[in-house]
Amino acid sequence: KTAVVLLTRDLRLHDNPALAAACAAERVVPLYVLDPKLADLSPNRTRFLHQSLADLRANLREIGGDLIVRTGDPIAETITVARETDATTITMAADVSGYAVRRERRLKEESERHRIALELHPGLTVVEPGTIRPGGGGDGYKVFTPYYRAWSAKSWRAEAPMPARITLPSGLAAGRLPATPDGESPHTCEGGESAARRRLATWLGQGIGGYGDAHDDMPGDATSRLSPYLRWGCLSPLALAEAGKARDADAFVRQLCWRDFYYQVARVYPKLSTEALRPAADQNWRQDDAALQHWQDGLTGVPVVDAGMRQLRDEGWMHNRARLITAAFLTKHLGIDWRSGVSWFFRWLLDGDVPNNSGNWQWTAGTGNDSRPYRRFNPIRQALRFDPDGVYVRRYVPELKGIDGAAVHQPWRLPASERRSLHYPGPLESHRDEAVWLRD
Ligand code: FAD
Repeated sequence: KTAVVLLTRDLRLHDNPALAAACAAERVVPLYVLDPKLADLSPNRTRFLHQSLADLRANLREIGGDLIVRTGDPIAETITVARETDATTITMAADVSGYAVRRERRLKEESERHRIALELHPGLTVVEPGTIRPGGGGDGYKVFTPYYRAWSAKSWRAEAPMPARITLPSGLAAGRLPATPDGESPHTCEGGESAARRRLATWLGQGIGGYGDAHDDMPGDATSRLSPYLRWGCLSPLALAEAGKARDADAFVRQLCWRDFYYQVARVYPKLSTEALRPAADQNWRQDDAALQHWQDGLTGVPVVDAGMRQLRDEGWMHNRARLITAAFLTKHLGIDWRSGVSWFFRWLLDGDVPNNSGNWQWTAGTGNDSRPYRRFNPIRQALRFDPDGVYVRRYVPELKGIDGAAVHQPWRLPASERRSLHYPGPLESHRDEAVWLRD
C-alpha cells in the first residue's frame, strides 16, 4: 500500500505524527505543494520556507526517500500524485487558519470522490486546538490563565517515532525545487530542521536555564529565537515543551502555552486578523499615513520604538518586549488601527502567522484577550527598565551611537546643539497625548 503525506507547516522528520502515520504503509510519498497563492506574502518567509524544503529533501534522501515537490493548487496536485501512485491514504497535520481549514475541507471532498482516505493528525501545537474546552460551555478559552492551568494539567500525546527508512513508489518524478529566492532582510536565521536542531542544542545547553530571569532583557537577547522554526514546524512544539518541562523551565514552557492559546483562539475565530474579538473596543482609529510610515521606517523619534522596528527589518524577527512596545506605540499612542500593524509585521516576520501575530496584536491593542485591555505602555519607562544602559537602542539606531548610557532613550533632552548634529528626528508631533508619555 502507498500513503501520501502532504507536508505543510510540519517540515521535519522528528516527532511528525502525519509522517509517522504515513510510514505505516509500505510506500510513502512525502509531498510539498508550492502554492502560488501564498508565494508573495513575505519574501523573508518564502526564503526561509525554501531553505527548509531543501533541508527536508536532503534529510529524506538520507533515509532512502525524497521530498516530492509540485507547484499549483494543493488539492489538485495532491490528488494527482495520490492517483499516480495508487495511494489509498493521504495524511496531513490539522491546521486552524481560515485558509488552512478551507484547504482541508476541499481536500476531504476531493479525496472522498476518489475513494482515498484523508487522515488529519496533530503536530502543529503542543496540545491540539479544541481538545481543551472551558467548563460551562463555549468552544475555546478567551482568557489565558485558565487555559494555561488546564493545558498544564493535561497529559500530552507521546512523541511520534522518526522514520528509519522510507520507500518511495517507483517512477515518481521528484520535481524541481526552485532556487532559494532572496528575502528582504539581510540578517535572517537559516531555515530547516538541521539549523533548528543546532539552535535547539545551543538553547538547551546554554540558554534555557536563565530564561526566567533574562527573557525581558532586550540587549541580552536571552530568548530562544526558535519561533521561526516553530512557525514552519522545523521543530516539534511538543518535543520542545517536553524538553523544557524536563529542565523545570516553567517560564519557557508557559510561553509555548501562549502559542497554543492563540491557535485555539484562531480555531474559534478564523477572522482573527481582520475582526476584533471585542468589537466595542475597535473604534476611533486615526488615519495618519505619515505617522504610520514613520513607525514602519523606524523614524518616530522615540529611540526604543525605532530600534525595534529596525530590528524587524534587519533580522525578520523582533524581541518580544520590543514587539509589545512598538505595537502599543502604534495603537495606543498614535491611535492607528492594529490591522495596519498586523500587515506590516506579517510582511517581515519569519515567524509571522495568523494566530500569533493577530492574537498578540489584538491583545496589545485592547481588542482581544487581554484581561486588562486599557493598560498602557509608556515606551520611555519600558526602555529604561528593559534596556537600562541603552545598548539595544545603540545596536539598531546607529545615529544615536554617540550617546552614552540611558540618555540615548530621550535625545530630546540633550542640549540643542548636540541634538542638531544627530540626524535623528524629534518625536512625532502628530499623535494624541505625547505630553503624558514624554513626562517622566
Ligand atoms: P521565546 O521567548 O524563546 O519563547 C519560546 C516560544 O514561545 C516562542 O518561540 C513562541 O513560539 C512562543 N511564544 C513566546 N511568546 C509568545 C506570545 N506572546 N504569544 C505566542 N507565542 C509566544 N509570535 C509568533 O510566533 N508569530 C508571530 O507572528 C508573532 N507576532 C507577534 C506580534 C506582537 C504584536 C507581539 C507582541 C508578539 C508576537 N509574537 C509572535 C509573540 C512573541 O513575540 C514571539 O513568539 C517571540 O518573540 C519569539 O521569540 P523567541 O522564539 O525567542 O521566544
